[in-house]
Amino acid sequence: MKIPILDLKPAYDELRTELDAAYRRVMDSGWLLLGKELESFEAEYAASVGVAHCIGVANGLEAMQLVLMARGVGPGDEVIVPSHGYIATWLAVTHVGARPIPCEPDPLTYNLDPARLTALITPRTRAILPIHLYGQTADMEAINAIAARHGLFVLEDAAQSHGARSHGTQAGALGHAAGVSFYPSKNLGALADAGAITTNDATLADQLRHLRNYGSKVRYHNDYLGLNSRLSELQAAFLRAKLPHLAAWNARRTPLAARYLDQLAPLAAAGVITLPFVPAWAEPVWHLFVIRTARRDALQAHLGAQGIGTGIHYPIPPHLSHAYRDAGWKRGDFPLAERFADEVLSLPIGPHHTAAQIDFVCATIKDFFRA
Ligand SMILES: *Cc1c(COP(=O)(O)O)cnc(C)c1O
Repeated sequence: MKIPILDLKPAYDELRTELDAAYRRVMDSGWLLLGKELESFEAEYAASVGVAHCIGVANGLEAMQLVLMARGVGPGDEVIVPSHGYIATWLAVTHVGARPIPCEPDPLTYNLDPARLTALITPRTRAILPIHLYGQTADMEAINAIAARHGLFVLEDAAQSHGARSHGTQAGALGHAAGVSFYPSKNLGALADAGAITTNDATLADQLRHLRNYGSKVRYHNDYLGLNSRLSELQAAFLRAKLPHLAAWNARRTPLAARYLDQLAPLAAAGVITLPFVPAWAEPVWHLFVIRTARRDALQAHLGAQGIGTGIHYPIPPHLSHAYRDAGWKRGDFPLAERFADEVLSLPIGPHHTAAQIDFVCATIKDFFRA
């Protein structure tokens, strides 16, 4: 049995009619950027998240970067980011000239630990940028309470959490603004790079519409130092075709996750692996199903030999990546992030995986630990 961690072909097969029609609609319109498809997608996505505004942009990294630009975050400022997560979140801060201040994760949920937040806040802190990692929202109630106490802006990184909820409210509607990615592998993926910002702040939304398009309201009248970060009509049309299926596709992941949790529970009880933990208030969308084990590399090789694809999200914590070699961090600075980078393993999960495939993955993992 061959089980890829991600296979986009079955997604196309299922939505072929809608996606092909979207392609033809855009080609027949003769309009490729900043048109009706984008406008419609922005309205539809904002409604689906439960916010007033959505601004389509080129990708998730620039979505976050643009929000920080709009807020005037820059050199001399600090933004608190998770020590355990993807480097894009840090780069958004670095690219506006501010300094990312890493906060260690809650060891149960892997999300930014609110208990460690207050100690990191300084007079230079401008914003908190939590990731809803692996498809489960960070503890936004606690994070927002701390942010409110210190007058800080909260920007969600909602790239992995389309449709996830916290206390019933969706990711993307839990902070002052959210950056979202529609990179093809995400729960809601375009057919190339794409991203968006969601917010209830009308002033911010208006600024962002200009900042994504060279900072101009009127063509060739440039009011701000903007980016070129547009979401194309084709990608907006593809996203419009896929958005109505998001909830159902997310729902197909839930029983697969339950199957993993059930079948791997004995290994967790024996202390050889750690399973994902879901707090009572969280409704995850299982972007990734991540286990932890001290024997990660050997287990990954064993699964690979049986045709099972896995991933590591992520093997090098941002503070130890070569890109940040001049920033002054060293091994030992963020021990939880470093340990998780050595231990996490993402198992196959997606709307087109079957129960039989998950059973085979679980049986193969059990074989490994039995040997
Ligand atoms: C995918 C991802 C991003 C970046 O999105 P791009 O569209 O690739 O720029 C940012 N943060 C997280 C957590 C992601 O998973």
